Amino acid sequence: MNPINPVVISTWYHGEKANEVAARVLSEKGSALDAVVAGAAVSEEDPDVMDVGYGGLPDEDGTVTLDAAVVGSDGRSGSVAGMEGVVHAAAVARKVMEETKHAMIVGEGAKRFAIKMGFEEKNLLSEEARHRWLEWKKDPEKPTAWLGEHSLHETLGIVAMDQSGDLAGACTTSGEAWKIHGRVGDSPIIGAGLYVDNGVGGAAATGAGKEIISVCGSFLIVEKMRGGMSPQEACEHTLRRIIDRHGGDADFQVGFVALRKDGETGAASIQRPFEFALFKNDENRLIKAKAILEKQTDFYKTYLRNG
Ligand code: ASP
Repeated sequence: MNPINPVVISTWYHGEKANEVAARVLSEKGSALDAVVAGAAVSEEDPDVMDVGYGGLPDEDGTVTLDAAVVGSDGRSGSVAGMEGVVHAAAVARKVMEETKHAMIVGEGAKRFAIKMGFEEKNLLSEEARHRWLEWKKDPEKPTAWLGEHSLHETLGIVAMDQSGDLAGACTTSGEAWKIHGRVGDSPIIGAGLYVDNGVGGAAATGAGKEIISVCGSFLIVEKMRGGMSPQEACEHTLRRIIDRHGGDADFQVGFVALRKDGETGAASIQRPFEFALFKNDENRLIKAKAILEKQTDFYKTYLRNG
């Protein structure tokens, strides 16, 4: 059988570097799962990506906790949530999938499991993230996790198709900034932040975790593709489902990326900005996704970036 042209799709600007590494793995005949875990590691290690792994913005107590999931081509999955002190959360999620009978390991247990699996312990709070946290604490008008608006955040969701045409995905994040300690988002929840069915396609999410969980977002996209929608239609349908739950308007961001078994892709968000990275036909590009509502989410972005 002729090798299939690999495809990788991932969320946000840092997805571009993640795609590069994932595509290299695929060009060397690596599996889709190897590729997405290697891609996830790029964002996880990069301190300038303040939404994932090392350097991620902490919770309201100043503690960085990571959520991550993987789904393999064989339909198996694994995840970790609220994990402290280990950078490569997606790789730990893969170990949960491959080495245990469990679907998810959380908190202190996840860290202990990771260390047992040979992962190194590391302080995840970078100087810059600590500085932003201290600035946030000082601000009397700060956005908090106690109701109010969601902040804009850039989780890495990545879905790939390898040279055999098999699909796998990973999703990795430090979760919403300033969250309540112990809060778990959509990213490590299979069917919410990430879902892959090797016979149909895969999808991954970023944005307000509570909203994505409420509609089983990534699962819904894959099921809509199974029913005949294109990846683009399925992303938009799922976003509309979320918007409809809020009476036709939504003051928060959610973005999805999707990849179908035939290599066709889609991406969309509720508001601007949302960009995604697409590696296809040997080309890796950062693309602006279609926004369903004509709104710009920039306040919290500015807040988070300029601290
Ligand atoms: N979905 C992530 C979470 O809720 C945050 C994001 O990607 O915006 O933790």
